[in-house]
Amino acid sequence: MEKRQSHGLTYYVFELLAPYPRLRHGVFARYAPPELTGELTFAFGPNVPQARVLASLDLAAAALGLPAPAFARQTHSAAILFLDPARPYQPRSPETTLTGYDALVSPPGQSLLIKLADCQGILLFHPASGVLALAHSGWRGSTQNILGQTVAALQERLGLNPAELLAAVTPSLGPCCAEFVNYRQELPEAFWPFQNPLNHHFDFWAITRQQLTQAGLRPQNIEIAGLCTKCHPDFYSYRRGDTGRFALLAGTLPD
Ligand SMILES: [Zn+2]
Repeated sequence: MEKRQSHGLTYYVFELLAPYPRLRHGVFARYAPPELTGELTFAFGPNVPQARVLASLDLAAAALGLPAPAFARQTHSAAILFLDPARPYQPRSPETTLTGYDALVSPPGQSLLIKLADCQGILLFHPASGVLALAHSGWRGSTQNILGQTVAALQERLGLNPAELLAAVTPSLGPCCAEFVNYRQELPEAFWPFQNPLNHHFDFWAITRQQLTQAGLRPQNIEIAGLCTKCHPDFYSYRRGDTGRFALLAGTLPD
């Protein structure tokens, strides 16, 4: 990934997506200008001032030149929300935010956002059509194979060929820190080969790579950031004890 600065914010972009200027995207680091108490946060919550979330959303969208994004209250489901840019969905409060969707799909025109702290954010992009999908996948999402289900939905509902999709995976809990002591209860046996034989750490980056290639993506069309959120100070980490959320924001500009 490449680090960039704009509007006082720091964000990362994927090299894989550089040839497609119509697609704008960024993984936003937690730091922000002092008027935002020095940190962005993107998820509404009981101890988070709503104005701070809205200011974070607006600053990030402005930094990328995108309209206000669609997002949902993520629940570690495998449910997919298909959006229609003709009817923009741009929530500004917890009350107007749809609940229970962990993948968002849209043709060009609607920007999308996924909130993160250790879980993976996955961007799927189809260059020819400009269709964009973002998914939120923690270990529960991996267990349900939300990525395989999203790729299948893109194929069935929109007729997209998985071999033409690009996939980028955000900073997230790495094999250095993804410890699952109760893996026999929590993880399917198919994941057990991804365990470090010396401890209870699992390589969810490799699991994601396998799920994407099994869904029909070409290995050279997959970029995994390879940055661990618990180890890297730019990002929030649930396992480190952070309550804030950073974001993957993306949108395809209309023709
Ligand atoms: Zn780590």
